[in-house]
Amino acid sequence: MGLRASAEQLHQGRLNVKPQKGKDKRLFVDLDICSSGQCEKCVIRCSYYYHQQGPGNNGIVSVAELATYAVICRKCEQPHCVASCPVDALEQQKDKDKLLIRHNMRCISCKSCSNACPYGTIYPENVPLLIHNCDFCLDRRSHIFEPLCVKSCPYGALQLKEADADLGENTFLVGDNIIVHSAHWEREKA
Ligand code: SF4
Ligand code: SF4
Ligand code: SF4
Repeated sequence: MGLRASAEQLHQGRLNVKPQKGKDKRLFVDLDICSSGQCEKCVIRCSYYYHQQGPGNNGIVSVAELATYAVICRKCEQPHCVASCPVDALEQQKDKDKLLIRHNMRCISCKSCSNACPYGTIYPENVPLLIHNCDFCLDRRSHIFEPLCVKSCPYGALQLKEADADLGENTFLVGDNIIVHSAHWEREKA
């Protein structure tokens, strides 16, 4: 299977949300579990060769960051997060449904954005100095049964799932390669 969208395109906010014909398995992340604080530090392992030095050096942080920007961020008219950044690393993309993007070559991981967001959208652990972008294991799926992150998450927060028009409540397609579950807004309403 070839790359449908590179990690870079995805992180630039390419939001193609439609399921594709045929087999369309995507990385599913349950943000409710993943951000529940069950793991003090993420313990998953990652199939990407250069990410195998141990827990923490994995691609899932980049997925969690993008997923929160896409699904949980309220896309404020006057985003405090952007205004608080001392190095202009955070941008609200006007032409991409106000999706936030963090230019990680500029980001110094000061966490000001995390403190400035009145809704707690930006988890401090999701804006690290060094980011390891997930490539969704697309080119490895022919020879690995499932990505190591999926196998090693102890709480079932990660899965490989068929993209489907009927994903169930609070579940969203994000970009070409991610499915995100979050009941954040339901909890806010309650
Ligand atoms: S953590 Fe990065 S993006 Fe956030 S305010 Fe600091 S430098 Fe800017
Ligand atoms: S302040 Fe928070 S909710 Fe508003 S745009 Fe920034 S991250 Fe999103
Ligand atoms: S999908 Fe592959 S590259 Fe992405 S976090 Fe999981 S194991 Fe790592």
